[in-house]
Formats: sequence, structure tokens, C-alpha cells
Amino acid sequence: MSLFAAVEMAPRDPILGLNEQFNADPNPAKVNLGVGVYFDANGKLPLLRCVAQAEAAMQADPKARGYLPIDGIAAYDKAVQGLVFGADSAVLQAKRVATVQAIGGTGGLKIGADFLKRLNPDAQVLISDPSWENHRALFSNAGFQVGSYPYYDAAKLGINFDGMLASLNTATAGTVIVLHACCHNPTGYDLSPAQWEQVVATVKARQLVPFLDMAYQGFGEGIAEDGAVIQQFLAAGLDFFVSTSFSKSFSLYGERVGALSVVCASAEEAGRVLSQLKIVIRTNYSNPPTHGAQVVALVLGTPALRQLWEEELAGMRLRIRAMRSALVEALKTAGVDQDLSFVTRQKGMFSYSGLNAAQMQRLRSEFGVYGVDSGRICVAALNEQNLPQVAQAMAAVMR
Ligand code: PMP
Repeated sequence: MSLFAAVEMAPRDPILGLNEQFNADPNPAKVNLGVGVYFDANGKLPLLRCVAQAEAAMQADPKARGYLPIDGIAAYDKAVQGLVFGADSAVLQAKRVATVQAIGGTGGLKIGADFLKRLNPDAQVLISDPSWENHRALFSNAGFQVGSYPYYDAAKLGINFDGMLASLNTATAGTVIVLHACCHNPTGYDLSPAQWEQVVATVKARQLVPFLDMAYQGFGEGIAEDGAVIQQFLAAGLDFFVSTSFSKSFSLYGERVGALSVVCASAEEAGRVLSQLKIVIRTNYSNPPTHGAQVVALVLGTPALRQLWEEELAGMRLRIRAMRSALVEALKTAGVDQDLSFVTRQKGMFSYSGLNAAQMQRLRSEFGVYGVDSGRICVAALNEQNLPQVAQAMAAVMR
């Protein structure tokens, strides 16, 4: 009997599985709106100019690759803090934030989850319904019971805010609440500042533990605008977690550049928390990789490169917005007469299109347009060339 005879085949990752299906489709006109990746106007994954310039500078002065400190490159961690909390924010001046470099946003979430499990093993975790696929798996693999709070209201094509708040109001103290800081994945619907204010008040009153997942800073309204939610949590005097991802905002998906920041009550407390985060890292992968974080640190720390990055990020954000409007127009032209304004109300890379699983399957099989069965499409993969086909296909299944 072989050692692995009893090993069961695990289910395929639904979105990566969709990718495999896309790659195997012989249809020459196929369009992939499944995976959450930004493509440029020519349908290409961009290499940002700020990244290329930083890498050229690094190549001109090559360095040996020693081990990094367990918490990563100090200049990188500092740059992350500046971006997330505002460079001259009081919380940073007071050294109340523990930040560690992580392997992508996923790594930041995982370090946070493992630390929380040691801190409060019996805590419940609540994620939004629906949420990024990996939230549930990640927190349950860290040993938590994962439940959800209502978020999407299909009938309203918007947020079930009353349901969300009611759910938070019945959560027991210590419950970890995973929140999408901006550009909610998968729906594209974000809370308004006034709604955030109510969430902050509820979290505070119920003594819940906020964990803000910030995977798309700069893709919604702008870097500072998308980070404003962080200021609301700070203003309430709360301790909280923030995971950061640069996968999208730097188009550095494969470099796995992210971070975890934990806001604490004092500098002394932040020091103790940091020491525990380091244990989590040390016992998982010892220390993080050098390249991607060095690129990001160099870009964020060099004024000219940083300006270029902000311009390029704005370019991505505005192109996505233009594609949202163009999709609405093209759907109207194709004869869809229902109100489609929700598409331009949504933020970030995704749109919950309102289409059901059967319609999404028809999009694939009849038109070669690949989106997720939940109705999620990646608007950041639309361009002038594929838009007419996508709109025709969507219009056909909506009739
Ligand atoms: N959180 C959310 C909401 C995401 O959408 C993603 C990426 N799809 C991540 C975290 C993970 O980011 P990364 O690829 O940097 O691990």
C-alpha cells in the first residue's frame, strides 16, 4: 500500500481552473475576464516604467543577496507605513505600528491570521458574503471558524448595509472582522465614508478586531482617497490589522510583494507584537525575498520614480473607469435597456455584472467570454478591441 493511497484529489481553485479552461479553448476570439489582473489598452500585462527604471538602477549597481531581516527591508516597511497611514501621521510618529514585509497580500493575511490564532485561539472570524475566495480558506487553515456577514444585495445591485451592521452588532467581543479597505473583490461595491463611520463605531462598541485587506490601494479613487478608511479607524483610537498588496498597484504579481501592519496602543506594545510576527515568519519561511520589495522601496523612496508610479497608477485607474463607461454605452447600443449605472458605481478591477451562473456559462460556451460563475467580470481586462464582442455577448445572454 503506497504512502499516498488515501490522499484525495483536492478541488481545483475555481478561478485558476477557469484559466486552464480558457487556455484550452481553441476559439481564437476568446476573452479572459476571469482572473483579477490588470491588462493595458493592448491587452498586455504592463511592466510599469517606474519598475523598469528602478530595476535598471539596481542592475547598474548590482548587490549580493544576503538574507534579509525576518521582518524584511527596513526602508520598504517604512514606505509601506507611509502609504497606508500617511507619512506624517501621529500613529507613525508614536511608533505604534508594527509592519513586516510579506509574500504578497496573501502572505500578510496569513501572518496576521497565524498571529491572531496564537493571541485568541477561540475567536470567530467573519468575512464578507461574498468575499475573495481565499479569505475563508486562509483563515480556516489557520484554525479559525469562519463565518460571514451579509454584504452583497443582489436585488438592490448594491450593499446590504443594514444586514452587515446587524451582523456586526451580534458578533461576540474579539471576533475578527475581515474588511475590504477599497475596491471590494468580487462585487466592486465599496462602503461610503458615512457607512464606514458606522462600521467603525460598531466595531469599537462591540470590541471586534478589524482586519483591513488593502489589495487595491489607488485603484478606486486615488491613493489617499482609498486610504481614508484607515484614517477613520485611527481616529476612533482602535487597534487593527492592515494587509497590503503591491501585486496590482505595481503590476508585480509574480514578485509577491506585500506587507502586514498592526496598529497597537503604544510603541512598547508594537515592539512586542513585532517580535511575535517575526516568530510566525521565522517558523514559516524564515525571511522574505529581496527583489520585489527592493523595487517598491526604491520607487516609493525616490521622488521622481514615485511621481512616475503615481501617474502610472492613475493611468490604470482611469483606464478601468473609461472601460466601465464604455461597457455601459456598448450594452445600451446592443439593446440592453435595464439600468446599468451600477457598473460605473462600482470601484476597482471587478464588476458584479448581475448575471447568473447559467448566463456566465453561456458567455463561455457560446461567445468565448470567460468570467466567474458568480457573475464577476474583470473590467481591468477590457479594452477597445474586445469590448464590442463582450458587450454583444453579454447583451445576448441578458435578453
Ligand atoms: N486580498 C484580495 C481582496 C485580493 O483580491 C487579492 C488578490 N487577488 C489578495 C488579497 C492577494 O494579493 P496577492 O496576490 O498580493 O497575494
